[in-house]
Amino acid sequence: MTQQLPATMSQSLFDSRADAIADAARQLAALGWTPATSSNFSMRVDDEHAAITISGRDKGHLGRDDIMLIDLHGHAVGTTARPSAETALHTQVYRRWPEMTAVLHTHSRTQSVVSRLYAARGAIQLQGWELQKAISGYTSHDSVLEIPVFPNTQHMPDLVAQVDAWLDAGKPLHAYLIDGHGIYTWGRDMAEARRHLEALEFLLECEMDLRRLSS
Ligand SMILES: [Zn+2]
Repeated sequence: MTQQLPATMSQSLFDSRADAIADAARQLAALGWTPATSSNFSMRVDDEHAAITISGRDKGHLGRDDIMLIDLHGHAVGTTARPSAETALHTQVYRRWPEMTAVLHTHSRTQSVVSRLYAARGAIQLQGWELQKAISGYTSHDSVLEIPVFPNTQHMPDLVAQVDAWLDAGKPLHAYLIDGHGIYTWGRDMAEARRHLEALEFLLECEMDLRRLSS
């Protein structure tokens, strides 16, 4: 499948984004966070485009050819490949925050279980954990890091609307869980997005352990 790039986009820029996505995907797959071809990853390429994983590929074996170009409304650009089914949740981040350049979505066992445990409350409040400081803007374990849990749906516009409603209410958002499904988080570069994802996985595991041990 050939990827044609817009005349204004350099091949080396697209290739560097595609390589960064593929590298991250292989590493997260090795941790077991992307079972059965699930999960999707993207990076902003410029003001109007992002690179994203092609639907249905095994995330443990991704290469440059498994990444495609889309516009920020989720349409394929210069390829007949099909982007991830959840592309609208990636482009929403890039449209809302011009400074964000990487979006990661995984389906780890911990993310899946915790999302079900907290779905009825609509959010999980993390407080007292030193590792909250890994989330940009958090400088103390004392502050409350709230991660919403949105109901799952196969109808992406409904999920996009839930995220918009949360943000439009003025609440901070660094990540969200989807019930029985997984997590979305992002960053100003791939390193920040990876740090957020790894910290959140750790924090959710700690919360789950606390519940197990205190019951
Ligand atoms: Zn998913």
